[in-house]
Amino acid sequence: MEFILAPKAGFCFGVKRALDITLKTAKEHAGPIYTLGPLIHNPQVVQQLEQRGIKVAEDLSDIHEGTLVIRSHGVAPDVLEEAASKGLQVIDATCPFVKKAQELAKKMQAEGRLVVVIGDKKHPEVAGIIGWTGNRGVVVENPEEAEKIETGSPIGVVCQTTQPEQNFEETVRILQNKGTDIVAHNTICHATRERQDSAINVAESVDVMIVIGGRNSANTKKLARLCEETGTPTYHIETAAELQQDWFKGAKKVGLTAGASTPGWIIEEVKRKMEEMTNRDEGMNMEKALQFKAFHPGDMVTGTVVQV
Ligand code: SF4
Repeated sequence: MEFILAPKAGFCFGVKRALDITLKTAKEHAGPIYTLGPLIHNPQVVQQLEQRGIKVAEDLSDIHEGTLVIRSHGVAPDVLEEAASKGLQVIDATCPFVKKAQELAKKMQAEGRLVVVIGDKKHPEVAGIIGWTGNRGVVVENPEEAEKIETGSPIGVVCQTTQPEQNFEETVRILQNKGTDIVAHNTICHATRERQDSAINVAESVDVMIVIGGRNSANTKKLARLCEETGTPTYHIETAAELQQDWFKGAKKVGLTAGASTPGWIIEEVKRKMEEMTNRDEGMNMEKALQFKAFHPGDMVTGTVVQV
């Protein structure tokens, strides 16, 4: 059996950076350490962070002392101000790509533009960006919502970093007919798109596809859906314990990918379990059974780097 790991799989730059900063903070700071909401959408990682004393608070009002680490999604400036006024030490792990969108939103608001953020209204990254406009910006999710905008001001556009390119372009096209003029910044980060393209390419060439990642992770769910749409039987799992031998019956090639919030050590565990299962199933020796292709360890965080 041949195994193919998607060349772009697992942690993106911003998530890896936020996790590294948080672990470093836990090592260097005494007292309780909090994140506002889970640092990443992966229950196994969150659980291991908790074992290191890094707690998840749902609201700033739940934190009374210690250190607050800002997640890669970023937050509105009033959250930073409130944390400082409570005497909390703030460590900002906002992804630099998200920070860029925040800065552009703030600048365009100061220029007198109506800031339009193209993105998911419920996503914390979007709420954070809107906060940098003094909560005067508006969010539109698609071209239909952009149609409803009425303004006599110039418009400034940024978008949620994980938006599909096509939605950005089509929404901007509608916004071009609104307001007095428009400046649109494409703030899409390509990590998501690269992972999706990479997963689709692998799914198209295998008999079974395994997608690893938190069930509450939107980007992992999307990866699984895209793989399914190729027609290849696809299984979304969180951990190696969920793998079932039946899935691999008769398969010659198996593909593997992982969401941007999946650490390397979980990917390694799944690989190992698949090795065991398929060897047991087919009585093949390890060397012959395993040919992991396109494995670029530099594209994801390994267990040794994460060390959670
Ligand atoms: Fe940063 Fe892109 Fe990862 Fe979002 S997907 S955290 S913008 S690197």
